Amino acid sequence: MMNSRRELFLEEMGLTPLWRLRERAAPAMQDAPASAGQVSASTEQVSADVDDRAARIARMNWPELKATVAACAACPLRKTCKQTVFGVGDEQADWLLVGEAPGAEEDARGEPFVGQAGRLLDSMLAGIGLKRGADVYIANVLKCRPPGNRNPEPFEVAQCAPHLIRQVELIQPKLILAMGRFACQTLLDTDASIASLRGRLHGYQGVPLIVTYHPAYLLRNLPDKAKAWEDLCFARRTMAGLRSEASMQEAG
Ligand code: URA
Repeated sequence: MMNSRRELFLEEMGLTPLWRLRERAAPAMQDAPASAGQVSASTEQVSADVDDRAARIARMNWPELKATVAACAACPLRKTCKQTVFGVGDEQADWLLVGEAPGAEEDARGEPFVGQAGRLLDSMLAGIGLKRGADVYIANVLKCRPPGNRNPEPFEVAQCAPHLIRQVELIQPKLILAMGRFACQTLLDTDASIASLRGRLHGYQGVPLIVTYHPAYLLRNLPDKAKAWEDLCFARRTMAGLRSEASMQEAG
């Protein structure tokens, strides 16, 4: 019977009735890179001023960071968007999902992933037993909508990435799911394709990171939904492994 949120997700992903969530051992944590990523290599324009600004942002608490983003004029995007879109969810979440930038609906409502891609993201989350706001935080690389939903420019990413980096530090998630090229490039300091990065555990500043396709891409490329489902199952297994590792450590 098609009743659970997971079943609805599978249907949405075009995966019913073939795909069934299997419990498997968590992947070996030896794959996790120790620490790493800095802001994207594509941020050639990084200057001493930018470094100073990044250092200031790196010391902010949540209210300061929210106020800074709301008042930010560090790139031209704030002039063309309606409002900044800071992020949404549990500020102590184990799961951090990172997308690219707000689209039209997000710009209008001030919340990430509330348009068509967001609806797919919600059903993807439901598929692995998650719900936005409940142990999940959702953020974007850019906090302002690029006009016409064009791709972020390197300068815009360089200016905005310190906000995301501080969000990661404040949340201290157990796992990051980087969705799409811009999230992956920003957090992993790489130009590699999503296809080549999927299926392995990466790390951002010691936080395990899993790469998957962006939900908006999946809306246009239906066959890749099955790959995104694999990524989510991998993420779910990884989280289970991280949690059992943590509880074994607590038990001494
Ligand atoms: N795409 C994104 O990357 N982020 C959003 O918030 C909406 C669409």
